[in-house]
Amino acid sequence: MEHRKDTIAIVAGRPEAVPGAPLNQGLVPASTYRAGTERIYGRDGNPGWEALEEALAALEGGARCVTFSSGVAASAAVLAELPQGGLVVAPAAPYWGVSVQLRERHAAGAIVLREVDTTDLEALDRAAEGASLVWIETPSNPRMDVTDIAAAATIAAANGARLLVDNTFATPLLQAPIALGADLALHSATKLIGGHSDLVLGAVIAADGEVGARLRARRQLDGATPGALEAFLALRGIRTLPVRLERAQATATTLADRLSEHPGVTAVRYPTRRDHPHRGVAARQMSGGGTMIAFETDGDGERAERVCERLRLIVHATSLGGVESLMERRGRYESEIANGTPPTLIRLSVGLEHVEDLWADLDQALA
Ligand SMILES: *Cc1c(COP(=O)(O)O)cnc(C)c1O
Repeated sequence: MEHRKDTIAIVAGRPEAVPGAPLNQGLVPASTYRAGTERIYGRDGNPGWEALEEALAALEGGARCVTFSSGVAASAAVLAELPQGGLVVAPAAPYWGVSVQLRERHAAGAIVLREVDTTDLEALDRAAEGASLVWIETPSNPRMDVTDIAAAATIAAANGARLLVDNTFATPLLQAPIALGADLALHSATKLIGGHSDLVLGAVIAADGEVGARLRARRQLDGATPGALEAFLALRGIRTLPVRLERAQATATTLADRLSEHPGVTAVRYPTRRDHPHRGVAARQMSGGGTMIAFETDGDGERAERVCERLRLIVHATSLGGVESLMERRGRYESEIANGTPPTLIRLSVGLEHVEDLWADLDQALA
């Protein structure tokens, strides 16, 4: 029986249903296993990773998921599998850690990096000639740019390149990159999948089992393995992802609308809002706007920084996707300013607090 994703999130990755078995995969701290199967050593596999991978592969509709010690370990593994000198087309401002990985490899001659605005399909098409990999992040962190996944998949395929979609902001529940033609979906499970700001973990889901097997071998060799506890917590996080998303997204929609009417706010970026430049694409490929909002305050970067410092409920901190709302001015990092992020841009990760309490806090901080 085909289940909907809300149900898959509950049932996937459970131990075999035999009488007396626990409902949930237990935590297995193990560096070695008794000889006789493929699982030999702690770097090869762990029942907890495998349960999490089964759930993520099912949610993304991929052949295989490989989990890693972090989102950037996952991206590094994908880049390590590229041919020497392979051309990578990527946005100029993806997640900053990914941008550093790409630029360092380019500088060292391992890859050739072509940075392009991936929301501009004509520019993407021109850049993709001869590419090995097209990398998109949608919605993007922190600017909330939305790239057309199906169009990018067509462009990548026409050029013999693979398409990777960083699906961290949308999660498999709001957007299905592999169904839209992507070869790889990447997650920082540190964010919405974990959902409680208490773990760091990454994952890649491959549409093709062979590609997945190579990434698994890469993890085994390079050793960027997830911790047993982290994998356990991430799978536990998946169980409540649908309801967390539903609540946080409803709150985010309200907050984005109210922020846009606030005299202290000059711009709001939320994918399903009328004023979002890519709302048509967002409406086609996303089932909701998600839990992240970018907005700009009036005045300068210092004013935006003071707004973050005045928060009483929302936590002034980096990261996103947890049950608690977090807010940060991205321009506090030099690298973000260098990548063109406006100094007054604030990234708001909406959690599960009451919408009126969150609004009261934003309103007093903006006053
Ligand atoms: C956080 C993040 C990453 C990196 O993941 P880590 O788990 O922090 O290593 C990659 N992509 C996006 C969109 C992110 O938000």
